[in-house]
Amino acid sequence: MKIDVATLFPEAFEGLKVGIIAKALQKQLFTLGLHNIRDYSQDKHRRCDDYPFGGGAGMLMTPQPLHDCINAIDPEHKSKRIFLSPKGATLTQSKVIELAGASALLFVCGAYEGIDQRVVDADIDEQLSIGDYVLTGGELAAMVVINAVARYIPGALGSEQSTDEESFSDGLLEYPQYTRPAVFNGMAVPEVLLSGDHAKVREWRKQRQIEITRELRPDLLKEEDR
Ligand code: SAM
Repeated sequence: MKIDVATLFPEAFEGLKVGIIAKALQKQLFTLGLHNIRDYSQDKHRRCDDYPFGGGAGMLMTPQPLHDCINAIDPEHKSKRIFLSPKGATLTQSKVIELAGASALLFVCGAYEGIDQRVVDADIDEQLSIGDYVLTGGELAAMVVINAVARYIPGALGSEQSTDEESFSDGLLEYPQYTRPAVFNGMAVPEVLLSGDHAKVREWRKQRQIEITRELRPDLLKEEDR
């Protein structure tokens, strides 16, 4: 998979290159192209922002550098072009899985008060939000999406890890997990997990998944299970 990012702050993405993501990049399971929008500005001071028409607080990203940057990265529009924006649909695990199936993704990060609408209209396929709150820029949001998507690239997770049995994989939250020691500060691990009876463990885990989802995220359950 090919992933590109258009941003005013390419250095922010150093924080993405750790752990599983760093390994996946080393193994060349995907490529990460970081492109500085400022490099495309035709302004003599390399400016990328200006005042909004009609007034209002703050500055907006001007269309020219952004439009040129996006179309230099993806001249034939082969990438799915995603603008990180609080106005977008909220990211979900099913969206992550859908994006992981794409061959090329281009993430566009806004800054200041956002970007000129004409770039959204002409150059963007989809807007994506990481939640109902406002960040200072799209970089953290892009890193969240790339991190979640990269876990689904075949070979990214070690053989001991899996996306099959985790929160949201079957529409429920994950069951509680325990490791050694069997008793910690007087708190014992549920007996069934030490029983060696795999069928019973499976049944206990499913039950706990339903209970935990009902308690913490009832919105995920079907009406009749709430
Ligand atoms: N004025 C915009 C609004 O009210 O919708 C907010 C602009 S925000 C300060 C600057 C940039 O941060 C946005 O253009 C977007 O790229 C990014 N951003 C902020 N919150 C985000 C979120 N929840 N999800 C994704 N991107 C976000």
